[in-house]
This record gives sequence, structure tokens and C-alpha cells, in this order.
Amino acid sequence: MILHAAGCEDAPKGDPAMDVLEALDYARMPGVILCKECGVPEFLDRFLDPS
Ligand SMILES: [Zn+2]
Repeated sequence: MILHAAGCEDAPKGDPAMDVLEALDYARMPGVILCKECGVPEFLDRFLDPS
């Protein structure tokens, strides 16, 4: 499973949009890969690693 940001061109058609909290829960699941094309890692890092 790959997690995409909303509007990513690589996201499968018809994927339900997730809000930030849903995406964070999803990103912590084993086996989930963050898509590098749509900036998901950079986006979620702000929430996963607050400083
Ligand atoms: Zn993507």
C-alpha cells in the first residue's frame, strides 16, 4: 500500500481522500509506503516529528 497526498497524479483513481489524522494513522501502519512524488513524507514529518 502506498500513501499519497490529495491530488497526486500517481494516486489510484477513486481513492478516498484522507484528512491529516487519518493519514498519520495510516503512515504508522507496517508495510505502508509514503509516496515520494507528492511530498507526503515532508508533509507528514511536520506532524510526526514536531520540534
Ligand atoms: Zn503520490
